[in-house]
Amino acid sequence: MIDVKTFFDKQLAVWPKARGNFDALSGVKTKTVGETRVQFNPARIASTGAKVDAASIKKRACFLCEANRPAEQIGIDWGEYTVLVNPFPIFPRHLTIPCKSHVDQRIAGRVGDMCRLAAELPGYVVFYNGPRCGASAPDHMHFQAGNADFLLAEVPSQIACFKLVGSTPEDVEKQFDDLYASLPAVGDEEPMMNVLCRYEDGRYVLTVIPRKRHRPSFYGDGEGQMLVSPASVDLAGVLITPREKDFNDIDEQAIEKIYKELCYSPEELAVALYPSRKKGRP
Ligand SMILES: [Zn+2]
Repeated sequence: MIDVKTFFDKQLAVWPKARGNFDALSGVKTKTVGETRVQFNPARIASTGAKVDAASIKKRACFLCEANRPAEQIGIDWGEYTVLVNPFPIFPRHLTIPCKSHVDQRIAGRVGDMCRLAAELPGYVVFYNGPRCGASAPDHMHFQAGNADFLLAEVPSQIACFKLVGSTPEDVEKQFDDLYASLPAVGDEEPMMNVLCRYEDGRYVLTVIPRKRHRPSFYGDGEGQMLVSPASVDLAGVLITPREKDFNDIDEQAIEKIYKELCYSPEELAVALYPSRKKGRP
């Protein structure tokens, strides 16, 4: 098992900037709107405002590659991955778990890893954001993890999602592969999705949230726009706003619109899944 507490103590003792961001977290404002909790978190501006188009990504040094990480950052070796403290936290305990090699953010073939990680991190939720579903490094494969009690127990009811449950990582991976094959996708891109995984009572529970769209139509920092770029955490009911104005303005109507634009309703999902089923399966 990964000893997260000791790792945090060790890391934050030598990295004042990260410690400052974790300390600031206890003072961030939150409010509850309908089923959703909203968090005003200015430190997340880098992620929410991240330019993730191919040209911008090509220009910047990858912050998940070991060579470009801050000198203070330490890691725990975990097979093909390294466990790191996320210096721009949403959770009181927030980890980033990049692959050791600079390979694209893709979930295919990695759900088993995700389950095994969840089993190493009891009390934590491990999550994956697709390359156009909130990942701020779409060019470098990574998971994240956070203390699970921070999230709501269920995904808000307006959002259609799949819950895959199994007693082994292989079992869950197989169920996931079947689902993956039936989800709509553009060209050779992976189907858009956010995935969350927990290990509880000897079972692996994988929540898959298929997506229709990357960011809401009103994404931006202009008049009438909001800087929200939802990923797993937001769709699991904790919506992050890095700007105070958006935090103050966001209401049930806006949240409803975000969910509607980005995610499928149960009815839409039934229709979206049907054509690929017809192609591939009986
Ligand atoms: Zn990289």
